[in-house]
Amino acid sequence: MIDVIIIGSGPAGWTAAIYAARASLAPILFEGNEPGGQLMTTTDVENFPGFPEGIQGPELMQRFREQAKRFGTDIKTEQVESLKIIDGGFEVASKGQTYQTRTVIMATGAEARRLGLESEKKLYGHGVSACATCDGFFFKQKKVIVVGGGDSAMEESNFLTRFASEVTIVHRRAEFRASKIMQDRTFANPKIKVIWNAEVIEILGVDVGHVTGARLKDTVTGEIHDLSIDGVFAAIGHEPNSRLLQGLVDLDEKKYVSVVKGTTMTNVPGLFVSGDLQDPRYRQAITAAGTGCMAALDAEKYLSH
Ligand code: NAP
Repeated sequence: MIDVIIIGSGPAGWTAAIYAARASLAPILFEGNEPGGQLMTTTDVENFPGFPEGIQGPELMQRFREQAKRFGTDIKTEQVESLKIIDGGFEVASKGQTYQTRTVIMATGAEARRLGLESEKKLYGHGVSACATCDGFFFKQKKVIVVGGGDSAMEESNFLTRFASEVTIVHRRAEFRASKIMQDRTFANPKIKVIWNAEVIEILGVDVGHVTGARLKDTVTGEIHDLSIDGVFAAIGHEPNSRLLQGLVDLDEKKYVSVVKGTTMTNVPGLFVSGDLQDPRYRQAITAAGTGCMAALDAEKYLSH
């Protein structure tokens, strides 16, 4: 029986692997078919401590990976198909093979919901973002739109006014779903404008490699018009990648995994979760890495009993 299997290869998974490997637990880490997590679609990362010059998201993940490998993590570039509870631990199935392990650290993260446009995909990291905290800084004195009408859209818009010269919220209905206090703050901010009843049907700038505008369609009249802008922030929610855990552990109403406060423990002994999978609130690489470390320490303690 293996001591630790880690599933997921973002900052949480790799940090768990570094700690588990250095504790001589010989972890196996399944990195999936598209390794690296959300940082793989981020360009400059300027807020990860230790990189005063900034670093590209994919390079940062490559460094995490090398560090985990250096201490002997067994990396499998495979997608885990199922996770089962068995006597004394868990069974992980991948590529027709099964692995039995005493503990599992889940670190499969979350995904920002996308608008679902081809132009959005092409310009991701080149003016299109889903994280104002990460990328707002690059829009000093620029014009941006924020898509969405929830608390995130309000929060991101307000945050972006620190940098951008103009922030326009584009919302598909005529009222926000955000809490009143967040709406009040938004309406009171003179740098924020709102376009109601509009959806983004195209992001412009694919030909030049960066965002130059957005094509909007009025959801009531069907009218189409172009807006000249430099950035698009989609704040239309996140979804945790908790599919493997459904029916196995307690999830909250948004399908995030519930943990014992201040730990990475779930309601299933030996099953730990780290990173965005249990965190709808902070969602930062550094906080994910922090909980990855916590999960490895929690697993180590569990195994020593
Ligand atoms: P959310 O509440 O689910 O709101 C998502 C928004 O995006 C909605 O307004 C929705 O429009 C819109 N939307 C969804 N799909 C869309 C699409 N394909 N195209 C255009 N618009 C789309 O998500 P959230 O704002 O990320 O908030 C998530 C949770 O975190 C909430 O419980 C929120 O209260 C909480 N949160 C709290 C704070 C805070 O208190 N400081 C900050 C951030 C988040 P419709 O309204 O038409 O459905």
